[in-house]
Amino acid sequence: MGKQLIISRGAPVIDEDGCHARGCPCARCDAGYGPTDFERSRARQARQERERRAVEAAAAAAEPKSAKAARRLELERAAELELEATAAAIRRSQEAGRRAAADARAARLLELRRAGWSFEDAFAEIDRTHPLPTREDDHEKTDDQ
Ligand SMILES: [Zn+2]
Repeated sequence: MGKQLIISRGAPVIDEDGCHARGCPCARCDAGYGPTDFERSRARQARQERERRAVEAAAAAAEPKSAKAARRLELERAAELELEATAAAIRRSQEAGRRAAADARAARLLELRRAGWSFEDAFAEIDRTHPLPTREDDHEKTDDQ
């Protein structure tokens, strides 16, 4: 208690405007050189101006952030769409490859059948010369890319 009194005696008390408060116990105010009413009013206006600018700065800082977030979401969505399109193109290409292989097998089957081959022999020959691409082949191709 006594220690607090010693510390506070003579220490300036500053108000919210940054001025020595009325009744400030510091030596300067005690000697009658405390801030005048005009200085207090100027200090209050300056504080209000600082607060107004801080509010404006906070609003200005918040706006580009939300714009940036929206732009990032846009870019992420575009990247997702591009990935989906690429995956669809790969699937179409793999499907086309399978269809082409199936067409080649069908053409060869017709040839062999016209040449008098039995279905069993013809299919065995086609499986040897025109194997169907497997899903595993597709995966290997995709991994290589
Ligand atoms: Zn003072």
